Amino acid sequence: RTVVMLFTRDLRVRDNPALSLACTTADRVVPLFVRDPALSVPPNRERFLLESLADLRESLRGKGGDLVIRHGDPVAETVKMARQVDATGVAMMADVSAYARARQRGLESERLMVKALPGVTVVPAGEIKPTTGGDQYKVFTPYFRAWQSHRWRSIAPTPKRIAVPEGLSAGQIEALPSVPEWTGGETAALKRLKKWRPLSDGYAEHHDDLAGDRTSRLSPYLHFGCLSPLELATAGLHDAFVRQLCWRDFYHQLLATFPAMARKAYRAGAVEQWHDDEEALQAWQTGHTGVDIVDAGMRQLLAQGWMHNRARLITASYLTKSMGLDWRAGADWFMRHLVDADVANNYGNWQWVAGTGTDTKPYRKFSPARQAQRFDAEGQYVKRWLGFDPPIRGKG
Ligand code: FAD
Repeated sequence: RTVVMLFTRDLRVRDNPALSLACTTADRVVPLFVRDPALSVPPNRERFLLESLADLRESLRGKGGDLVIRHGDPVAETVKMARQVDATGVAMMADVSAYARARQRGLESERLMVKALPGVTVVPAGEIKPTTGGDQYKVFTPYFRAWQSHRWRSIAPTPKRIAVPEGLSAGQIEALPSVPEWTGGETAALKRLKKWRPLSDGYAEHHDDLAGDRTSRLSPYLHFGCLSPLELATAGLHDAFVRQLCWRDFYHQLLATFPAMARKAYRAGAVEQWHDDEEALQAWQTGHTGVDIVDAGMRQLLAQGWMHNRARLITASYLTKSMGLDWRAGADWFMRHLVDADVANNYGNWQWVAGTGTDTKPYRKFSPARQAQRFDAEGQYVKRWLGFDPPIRGKG
C-alpha cells in the first residue's frame, strides 16, 4: 500500500499529523512538494521556502525517505504521482485559504482518497463554534476564552522510518544565496526557538518595545509550518505569547468562513471612503511620509522583509486613518515584502486596523507621536531605521 504525502505549508517532520498518518497506514510513502509557477513569490520568501524544503529533505533522508519535488499545477502533479505509484490515497494538511481549499477540492474531484489533517493552527478552524450560534467567532476575547478551555489534540508522533518507492527521481532544490537573519527550515526554527526561549519570560512587558526588538521572530516559520503551532503553544512559554498564537488561530477561523477577506470588508456596513493618491501611497511605501515613526517602520520592512508588530499597527493605521488610503493597497504592499506574509494574518490584521474587520472599536486611530513616545521613548528605533535609505523608489 502506497500513499502520497503532499506537503504544502507544513514543512516539518515533528507534530505533522498528515505525515504521521501516512507513515503508520502505508508500507510506502511518497513525500511530495509541488512548486506552483502560477504563484508569484518574492525572492525573500522564495529563498525561505527553498531552504525549508532542503532542510525537510535532509530530515526525511535521515529516516530513509526523501522529498520529491515537482513543478506545475499541484492538483495535476499530485494526481500524476498518485497514478504513477499506484497510490491508494493522499495525506495532506487541511488549510483555510481559497487557494488551499481549491487545491483540496481539486484532488477530491479526481476520485482520490484525500485525508486532510489538522496542524496549520493550534485548534483547527471551525472546531470551536460560538455558543451564540453562527459558524465563527467574530470577537477575539470570547474566542480566546473558548480556545483556552478547548481540548487540544495530542502531538503527532514523529515517524522513525519512511520507506519511499524505488525509482522516483527526487528533483532538484535550487540554492539561493542565504540571508542569516532568515534561514528557512525546521532545524533553523528549533534553533531560533531555543535561543529566544529565555526572553519569553519578559514577553508581556517587552513585546511592544520597538527598539528592544524582543519578540520571537518565529512568524515565517509558523507561516511555512516549519514549526508546529500546537507544539509552540504547549512548550511552557509565557501566557502572553500563547495569546498571540490564538490571534493567529482567530484570523484563520475568520478566513475559513470568509475567503474574500483579502478584498472585501469583513464587517457588513463598514464605511469605506478611501481616496486615490498614487504619490502619497508611494511616499508611505518607501518610508518618505515625513513622519519618523511611520517611515522607520516602512524602511525596516524594506530592509529586513519584516516589521515589528507595533510598527505594523502604526504604519497601517497611518495609511488608512491618517492618509485615508485604501487598506488593500497597504496590505498588498506588505504581502509583497514580508517574509512572513500570510493571507489570514495580514488581511485580518489590516482589516482590524482599518476598521472594516473585527475590531470592536473600528474608529480607533493611533497617533504616531503618542505611539513613538510610548514605544520608542528614546527614539532608538527611529534612529536605527531612518538611517537606512530604501533602494525601492519605484511605483507600488
Ligand atoms: P511574536 O510577538 O513573537 O508572536 C508569536 C507569533 O504569534 C507570531 O509569530 C505570529 O504567528 C503570532 N502573532 C503575533 N501577533 C499576531 C497578530 N496580531 N495576529 C496574528 N498572529 C499574531 N503576521 C504574520 O504572520 N503575517 C502577516 O502577514 C502579518 N501581517 C500583519 C499586518 C498588520 C497590519 C499587522 C498589525 C500585523 C500583522 N501580522 C502578521 C501580525 C504580527 O505583526 C506578526 O505576526 C508579528 O509581528 C511577527 O513577529 P514575531 O514572530 O516576533 O511575533
